[in-house]
Amino acid sequence: MLSGEAMREQYYQAFLIKYAEIGIKGKNRHLFESALVKQIKNSLKKTDGNFTVRRSNGRIFLEIEGEYSFHDTIAALQTVFGISGICPMVQTDDEGFEKLGVFICDYLRSIFSDISSPPSFKVAARRSRKDYPLDTMQINAQLGSVILAAFPTWYVDVHNPDVMVNVEIREKIYIYSETFPGLGGMPLGMGGKAMLLLSGGIDSPVAGFMVAKRGIKIDAVYFHAPPYTSDRAKQKVVDLAQLVTRYTGTIYLHIINFTDIQCRIYDCCPHEELTIIMRRYMMRIAEHIAKETDCLGLITGESIGQVASQTLQSLAATDEACHLPVYRPLAGFDKIEIIEIAKKIGTFSTSILPYEDCCTIFVAKHPVIKPDINKIKRHEKDIKDIENLVTAALATKELIIMSQRDTPSEI
Ligand code: ATP
Ligand code: MG
Repeated sequence: MLSGEAMREQYYQAFLIKYAEIGIKGKNRHLFESALVKQIKNSLKKTDGNFTVRRSNGRIFLEIEGEYSFHDTIAALQTVFGISGICPMVQTDDEGFEKLGVFICDYLRSIFSDISSPPSFKVAARRSRKDYPLDTMQINAQLGSVILAAFPTWYVDVHNPDVMVNVEIREKIYIYSETFPGLGGMPLGMGGKAMLLLSGGIDSPVAGFMVAKRGIKIDAVYFHAPPYTSDRAKQKVVDLAQLVTRYTGTIYLHIINFTDIQCRIYDCCPHEELTIIMRRYMMRIAEHIAKETDCLGLITGESIGQVASQTLQSLAATDEACHLPVYRPLAGFDKIEIIEIAKKIGTFSTSILPYEDCCTIFVAKHPVIKPDINKIKRHEKDIKDIENLVTAALATKELIIMSQRDTPSEI
């Protein structure tokens, strides 16, 4: 007897890719599907299988050519934004209704042999071939009877079945009854690019993931402050960016040496305003790079109230330093919720490695919680030669191009 996975590998010959259809009617639907097909093909390059991706009647099918790994294929498809469900399918030629019944019962017996208690089921037929001799209702009812006869302990539940036996009558007949969840969202390439401020913490990789999930390409910028931050802290950020490419595709990671700016702010400004003023310079520099690289917004991992620099007043003071829209997808999330996503996307264990990040060294004992923007601006005016330091910092820019190909396939 084959194990569950080996059996599935042998049985399944195709996948139906489900996607959420809300908001993608008309012209958008075509764009959505093209972008999705491109991303699906991309993701499958990491597996050993050969596949044909086909669009038909508002559905995307993936046909398997020869040997493939069931596990790797599902895992690859589960990194693609825009997919809501992955349904492995079996297919058979139309050789009459009786043979179809036998085929379906064999299939159910194989796939659900390890189910512990008898399941409820429902047959859901769809016909795109109107010349089929039975209509949908007749197919449902008659296949239901065949299944009940073959599995006397199974029972029908049309509202909330354990096993949904989907039968699609097309040129061939496709049957599927398992759905693996997809990531949801929109396929990459639907909506421009944004610049993620990526630190080595838990939040910012999750923030990048969340915005990318809406179909947005991501580039990233990291501010390091040697010797206050180590090479290992920088490597951690590189590793995090690499992990995020699993979902976002190639990331251009810009690394800026922030030490001189940070030290100058430390020397010239009230220490309770340090974090806000540093953050404002990060935003200015990030915006500069964003504009040079056609990014339409900035993304941060800030969450309202998480720390002093993330109160509404502090966030307003941070935003005041730049003109591009700032996206904070974690604004309303609790840390526990952020950690849950970080674990799911595979960044958590890297994020919690203990290397210091550039803000923890220069944190004030009593940071201001409700900064006064006029005061902040006055104090910024007192920072000697800061414009030159910003220009010099931009000149230190190191670019690392992170490719999805280099991401390990297991998280
Ligand atoms: P995390 O570091 O996981 O993002 P955090 O709670 O440590 O979260 P802060 O250090 O307060 O957050 O930083 C808030 C946001 O500012 C980060 O989410 C990130 O977007 C940006 N940021 C902070 N430090 C840096 C840095 N050194 N380089 C780039 N961006 C940074
Ligand atoms: Mg941080």
